[in-house]
Amino acid sequence: MYHKLMLKIFVTRKIPEAGINKLKNAGYEVEVNPEDKVLAKDELISYLKNGKYDAVLALLTDKLDADVFEAAGAQCKIFANMAVGFDNVDIEASKKAGIMIANTPGVLTDTVAEHTFALMLAIAHRVAEADRFARAGKYHGWEPMMLLGTDLSYKTIGILGLGRIGSRVAYHAVKGFNAKAIYYDVNRNEEFEKEFLDSTGSPQAAFRTTPEEVLREADFVSIHVPLLPSTRHLINAERLKIMKPTAYLVNTSRGPVIDEKALAEALQNKIIKGAAIDVFENEPAIEPLLLKLDNIILTPHIASATEATRDKMAELAAENIISALSGKEPPNLVK
Ligand code: NAD
Repeated sequence: MYHKLMLKIFVTRKIPEAGINKLKNAGYEVEVNPEDKVLAKDELISYLKNGKYDAVLALLTDKLDADVFEAAGAQCKIFANMAVGFDNVDIEASKKAGIMIANTPGVLTDTVAEHTFALMLAIAHRVAEADRFARAGKYHGWEPMMLLGTDLSYKTIGILGLGRIGSRVAYHAVKGFNAKAIYYDVNRNEEFEKEFLDSTGSPQAAFRTTPEEVLREADFVSIHVPLLPSTRHLINAERLKIMKPTAYLVNTSRGPVIDEKALAEALQNKIIKGAAIDVFENEPAIEPLLLKLDNIILTPHIASATEATRDKMAELAAENIISALSGKEPPNLVK
């Protein structure tokens, strides 16, 4: 009697059931890392060597390089990253190994844009600092000069990287806060700009030809570039000095885009007014000086972390695997 061999998928860490169910419903055998922790490279390699998997659903905390692809072997068709960023993957090595890489763009755009505003508003309105103040029993009644913050409405929001998330942030800034958006991107998006002309025809989302121009003009700078050699330390000590002393810096992209030590020093020396960041240069470590400062808000890489969005990310990663194993091009193949 003929038994169709079940294709086997390895999931590097517990993810939302929605993704696992999609894979199981497609008829695959799914094995999830039984320990709810990041697998060290040698642990991942030994799972892959012993398991002989047809596909791997991986996370941004997995470093996927030539050794990992070699361990996965020829039968492994795809590593589907459950993230839009894929700076954890050596793409050249995956190509050499003949393994496809996929990511999960789009499904997290609104959530990350919302988290960007959560950070922007929280730092400008001193929400975390005020919460600490109240919990410490320091609130003794309304005061005219207590914990004064900054408005976002009608300000200039500078965006570095006007892709899916950056353009959503610009949209909310202009439409929701009557702010002016200015942006720098290696690719200018004139179609986007045309959507944001005010009644007098003046641009509400305007291109700037250098990051410096954005940094000089903006009251809030929000970073939405991928981590690439060209964006590593895009924000360094020199560029922080260009910013207004009243300006805030927000980062929901990737930690190494900012020189974290330089940021801590700039905040301590009041070179800029404040910052709010979701990502860190050497995750999960955080530059110790940042932890001591009141003019920064730190969230632990949770910009896409809503229940609905994590379900969608897990499902999309599963869909990429299903396509690849059905002999089709995955919808989000990284090329
Ligand atoms: P995207 O590819 O749609 O947008 C990135 C934009 O950056 C593009 O428009 C691109 O042209 C531009 N860009 C590239 N290099 C540049 C450079 N040197 N200078 C200026 N602009 C440059 O990606 P997206 O979906 O908007 O996501 C952006 C990034 O956000 C991801 O790569 C990821 O690292 C990060 N992200 C973080 C979280 C989180 O949990 N904190 C969640 C989702 C995404």
